[in-house]
Amino acid sequence: MMSDRSNNPSRRRFLKGTVLGIAALPVAGAALHAPRARADELPRLEEDDPAAQAVDYVHDAADMADHPDFEEGQVCANCGLYTDEDGEWGKCSVFPGKLVAAQGWCNVWVPES
Ligand code: SF4
Repeated sequence: MMSDRSNNPSRRRFLKGTVLGIAALPVAGAALHAPRARADELPRLEEDDPAAQAVDYVHDAADMADHPDFEEGQVCANCGLYTDEDGEWGKCSVFPGKLVAAQGWCNVWVPES
């Protein structure tokens, strides 16, 4: 007489979980090793980009008379959202996939923590 093990619900759940877990390993491994875009591979944000205009972004925070929210000393390079700088350009979490100028500014500027 055959064993009743193949109809055991907890055994089936265990086997299903094991199979799914093993199947997910290569996907998780690929995600961990997926290359991140380097800063020098990304396009620069344009000042006339609607997303840039929405937050009053400029490449050069030298003459800011027309930007009422600007406070002296604020630039992207000392903003808490500026990362992965590569010389004069860096990444900003407000503009994923684009670079902003180190000496730029927008009205989302936050202090570094
Ligand atoms: S959030 Fe910060 S780093 Fe991003 S554009 Fe504005 S000032 Fe620059």
